[in-house]
Amino acid sequence: MPNKRDYYELLGVSRAATADEIKKAYRKLAMQYHPDRNPDNKEAAEKFKEVSEAYEVLSDANKRQRYDQFGHDGVKSTFGPGGFDFSRDFTHMSDLQDLLGNLFGGGMFGDFFGGGTQRRRSRGGATRGDDLRFDLEIDLEEAIFGSERSMDLPVSEACGECEGSGVAKGAARETCRQCGGHGSVVSDGGFIQFRQTCPVCRGEGTIVRNPCRACGGAGRVKTRRRLSLRIPPGVETGSRLRVSGKGEGGLHGGPAGDLYVVLHVREHELFSRQGEDLLCSVPVPPHLAALGGDLSVPTPDGLATLKLPPGTPNGKIFRLRGKGVPSLDGSGSGDLHVRIEIEVPTHLSSGQRRAMQSFADSCQESNFPGMAETRKRAAQFMERRDALRKADR
Ligand SMILES: [Zn+2]
Ligand SMILES: [Zn+2]
Repeated sequence: MPNKRDYYELLGVSRAATADEIKKAYRKLAMQYHPDRNPDNKEAAEKFKEVSEAYEVLSDANKRQRYDQFGHDGVKSTFGPGGFDFSRDFTHMSDLQDLLGNLFGGGMFGDFFGGGTQRRRSRGGATRGDDLRFDLEIDLEEAIFGSERSMDLPVSEACGECEGSGVAKGAARETCRQCGGHGSVVSDGGFIQFRQTCPVCRGEGTIVRNPCRACGGAGRVKTRRRLSLRIPPGVETGSRLRVSGKGEGGLHGGPAGDLYVVLHVREHELFSRQGEDLLCSVPVPPHLAALGGDLSVPTPDGLATLKLPPGTPNGKIFRLRGKGVPSLDGSGSGDLHVRIEIEVPTHLSSGQRRAMQSFADSCQESNFPGMAETRKRAAQFMERRDALRKADR
């Protein structure tokens, strides 16, 4: 992104600002530029996005430090290109909701950030579509190198025939007679009266007498949509990709919700993963482990040569720096841990069997200190047992 503005400058705070000062500055700007206060104002929407992005980074101590150190490059993958916002988790989004939810009277802001439980509903008016979640399995190669996926998603989008109104062409919605357009009714529970959502219009205050034939009055139609998704390198199980505007269609001209793609990385037969590190068990013939020498090991970049020292024990782990999974923020890669697994030879020829026998015949206790140690401990155990038995008598 060229010419990105400095985050501190955007929020109008100094680089030494405290978390509280940053929060206050953001609160003020977010209220000023919030899309609900500036309908159809592209400049305000852009500004709102910018200050939200600045706040997302500066309100997180880790990200702020990275930003201070590396500038926008240090935090670049959080806000990807093309209206495609990515972050490992959305804890911040819920912070934001806590922070601003009250200012905007509850549900509205929650909806804007796609995490709200309350649905914004202005009676008979524009209603934003719900956010949708889609779980996607990817393989480890895709998680390491990134990929482009195309998916066929079942979605319900605004009906094209009635533009989401649910009403047949030429007809209009009528005020609900049950609730008189209030959207709620008072029901009598004996001593207590309580208000509940009108069951006839489901809170909308209006009903459709001449429903649109294409959607049966629902305002939405079920369909399938082909969507291409860019998976950045470094994602892991639980990573979420937000595709804005690809959730459920809005009603009565309201905007569509967002689609959240939650990733699940399949187990791999060669590499297992811990965060940004990879682990790989590599079988090694006994003679190579004993004599030492070059061992060819698989890494994400291809085969690498590992120099085994003579007498490498089974289970020994070697670390290859930077040969793990790239980090999402582009700040490097994890390590690859190679575990040595001594493999016992099979299908021996008679010549090999003889060679091994003659090797065995030449062996001394010092060749196998572990075996000698175990024998010694076993003898001590028996001695102790015999002593106890004697004392018992
Ligand atoms: Zn009603
Ligand atoms: Zn329709």
